Amino acid sequence: MPKTPIHDTNDRPVLFISDLHLDASRPAVIRLFIQFLRQTASKAQALYILGDLFEAWIGDDALRAEDAVISALRALSATGVALYVMRGNRDFLLGEGFSQATGAALLGDLHRIELDGVVVLMLHGDTLCTDDIEYQRFRAMVRDPRWQAQFLAKPAAQRLADAARAREESAKHNRSVDEAALDVSPGSVHRILREQGVRHMIHGHTHRPSVHRFELDGAPAQRIVLGDWYEQGSCLVCERGCWQLQELAL
Ligand code: MN
Repeated sequence: MPKTPIHDTNDRPVLFISDLHLDASRPAVIRLFIQFLRQTASKAQALYILGDLFEAWIGDDALRAEDAVISALRALSATGVALYVMRGNRDFLLGEGFSQATGAALLGDLHRIELDGVVVLMLHGDTLCTDDIEYQRFRAMVRDPRWQAQFLAKPAAQRLADAARAREESAKHNRSVDEAALDVSPGSVHRILREQGVRHMIHGHTHRPSVHRFELDGAPAQRIVLGDWYEQGSCLVCERGCWQLQELAL
């Protein structure tokens, strides 16, 4: 995305979600998401999905166009709602095939927009968890194009098995490290805000929905954390200059 998209929310809202972790094992969440697309997102001007839409994504070649989620996303973008998807740490292999099937524009790892005159930086959030050294090492490995090419060359069944094992190891790792290491590092938040020259940030990943207001270099700054879709849905609604984290009942 070369230019900064500008949204004026006086007309229609802009929505942000992340960490749905859609998976066939949790059909109620899939139903909630499809209902959200049809009833809520369809009235918005744009929907930003900031990573981990899917619990796992083993490559666009395994995409089934008839899948209810894919067709609901396609139906949404076909009505003219701008649909943007960022890759998370689970679905980092989302690619052009997904984009073409859904009409979603894939975003880079750091993406900025202007929202009612405020410049906002969006990211999945895993790059802020810099105290988790082992995760950052894993991330560097799986984001390497050579690693991805080797992985994508494996048969789908092998990739599914590898992904399941990676999730198990990740769960084991998360249980073994200090709680604080799984949250963002304040130093990394400040560094990225300074580097990007912004004071507002929206991200997911930590599953700790909140609006954090703080001072950065003597001026107010804000970090909004989106919630996950396990026990409920979670959505940041920006409308008429108001930003509100909302829960969706499952
Ligand atoms: Mn994540």
